[in-house]
Amino acid sequence: MKLIKNSRKIYLDSASATPTSAEVLKVMTKVLRDSFGNPGAIHELGVQSKNIVEDARKKISSILGAHTDEIIFTSGATEANNLALLGLPNLRHIVTTNIEHASVLEVCKHLEKNKLASVTYVEVEENGIVSPLKIKKALRPETTLVSVMYANNEIGTIQPIKEIAKVIRHFQKLNPNSKILLHTDAAQAVNYLDINTIKLGVDLMTIGSGKIYGPKGVGALYVKRGVNISKILHGGDQESGRRAGTENIAGIAGFSEALDITEKMKSKESVRLIKLRDYFWAKLSKLAFDVSLNGDAVDRLPNNINITIPKIPSDLLVVELSAHGIYISEKSACKSGEKKSSHVIKAIRTIQGETLDSGSLRFSLGRETTKKDIDDTLFMLAKILEKLEPWYVK
Ligand code: PLP
Repeated sequence: MKLIKNSRKIYLDSASATPTSAEVLKVMTKVLRDSFGNPGAIHELGVQSKNIVEDARKKISSILGAHTDEIIFTSGATEANNLALLGLPNLRHIVTTNIEHASVLEVCKHLEKNKLASVTYVEVEENGIVSPLKIKKALRPETTLVSVMYANNEIGTIQPIKEIAKVIRHFQKLNPNSKILLHTDAAQAVNYLDINTIKLGVDLMTIGSGKIYGPKGVGALYVKRGVNISKILHGGDQESGRRAGTENIAGIAGFSEALDITEKMKSKESVRLIKLRDYFWAKLSKLAFDVSLNGDAVDRLPNNINITIPKIPSDLLVVELSAHGIYISEKSACKSGEKKSSHVIKAIRTIQGETLDSGSLRFSLGRETTKKDIDDTLFMLAKILEKLEPWYVK
């Protein structure tokens, strides 16, 4: 087994975390070393730190097509999603989908449980994409928020945010007293898709740093001017009184550098990865095993392949691949009450009429992925499947 001998590592889990790029590390190291002042202090060191935060805000807002006062720095996409949903006053009815990230779905459940809002969970189609028409049908005069993720973290499907924005505008024309805000969780989209907030037509947008080769634990919420948002973390008056706590200066500087680099390379990198992804899927689909693709084959992130191989436990495959230096992620088949099973796979597989929810494997490619990585992964996966087949399939 070639890979064991060479002990070459193949990282195909970029959707869960990316390495911090060398350029970002350089920026962060300098800040950590030289700029320790509290941005709230009025002495020179404080001002120096404040300037770093504000320069980062300028860079990020210009990439988002936003004003600087429309960016609130947070501890990541989870907090940005929480702020988007919990920080809005007078929430009455929320429309979302059944495949959102837990940092949206769990907040919705919390709001429902505490009778703070009612929620409609629109079911996605079997290709993992929500129909704007179904969103339209779910809107009510008392709807205050529509929250639909830009790209799904498990199956990579891209949601029609612009069309959803159009549907909302049309509804508001017919119902002039309604005021519906559109939020999108763009945490997975930043690497590859256009995140210009004006073009998308969103009022709120979540972004994060940890999946774009920046530091983990930092993100931001875009809040359109005129949208009233209250803090959910109480304390100081940082971030214009909308998010208390001393700013993560090095993290914010690293985040803005990472976003800048991402923006510059996104179109070329998307083209490169789409080729690799489609090559990967073409080969996977020809394996002598029952392999099916989860989510739309075209309207998905350039780096995402998510498959189901019935009967062979997905966690076993991840462990076997890991033992050969290949790192991917999985969601196990659903057993009732099991936390680890995927609500996303369940959502699309139930539509497909399957009685049992199946496990899934996610391969998420990244900047470092080469064709050789894909070939080696295919080779090793086939070997492992051959080894496991007599135990699980036959
Ligand atoms: N939203 C999406 C779509 C994600 O993929 C993730 C993380 O995987 C998050 C939100 C939460 O991000 P974080 O853990 O950085 O807060």
